[in-house]
Amino acid sequence: MKCRKCGGAAVLELRRHNAAFCEPDFLEFFRNQVREAIRKYRMLAPGERVLVAVSGGKDSLALWDVLIDEGYQTTGLYLDLGIFDYSVESKARCEAFAARRAAPLIVSRVADAIGAPVPVIKNVTRRPPCSGCGLSKRYLMNRAALEHGFPVVATGHNLDDEAATLFGSVMHWQTDALPRQSPALASTHPKLVRRVKPLYRLSERETAAFAFLRRIDYIVEECPFAKGATSIQHKQILDRMEDASPGAKHNFLFGFLEKAQPAFARAEPVALNECARCGQVTTGTLCAFCKLADQVKRAT
Ligand code: SF4
Ligand SMILES: [Zn+2]
Ligand SMILES: [Zn+2]
Repeated sequence: MKCRKCGGAAVLELRRHNAAFCEPDFLEFFRNQVREAIRKYRMLAPGERVLVAVSGGKDSLALWDVLIDEGYQTTGLYLDLGIFDYSVESKARCEAFAARRAAPLIVSRVADAIGAPVPVIKNVTRRPPCSGCGLSKRYLMNRAALEHGFPVVATGHNLDDEAATLFGSVMHWQTDALPRQSPALASTHPKLVRRVKPLYRLSERETAAFAFLRRIDYIVEECPFAKGATSIQHKQILDRMEDASPGAKHNFLFGFLEKAQPAFARAEPVALNECARCGQVTTGTLCAFCKLADQVKRAT
């Protein structure tokens, strides 16, 4: 196998690109994909302050690594979900990375904000753990960005994540979710920061290879609640399609973004208010996070 760029020995074959790369050319290919994502969706201004949401996994730490080297003023945000050893280990990985790259890291505990960690929230609500967890993460990311004066939050969602989310939304025809399926979400309210996903052009295998080659120490184990989550089942279905037909995930996601998404755009923007209690953005009077906190308080 020869590198497409330099003809040297390749370390990685990318079937969907019909190409193989040596280590330096793969790293450059990876960074170019991030630059292209940022350029195409005008995700970040040069040198902008960016809050990077990190979980300790390969994707978010690879993203942080690239953004630091691209000259953005980054700060990491680790949300401690309180999920047993998984949270202890993943937090340690984020702290070690931040120390190695001499980058600031904010740590925020879900239990401090809502009154209980994710496993207790799951028991209180009797809903799948990812439901309360996802809601809390979205809320706390935005709140941390506002409190610390960041105009934008970057997350490590990759091509596989985005294709699986799209697949789930299409399977259930969640037409309210489809307009928001985008690598970049603009701010539609002064209290809502922009959200961007600069890894959306890169597969999970590619981010794993990048993290490995950059010697990033990341947590390999999945969250214990990930097992059985529908998003994982959707990923497995898409993996089988990708195996049979390299490029299937890319075509599915990019085809949607380029050809289908405009058809789902809302004619009228959703009216947003400020939560009567916490001041964060909501479509009602009290935001979903404050309602969840009330529910936790009543039960604990
Ligand atoms: S798998 Fe579910 S519970 Fe675990 S971190 Fe992800 S969203 Fe939270
Ligand atoms: Zn090469
Ligand atoms: Zn609120």
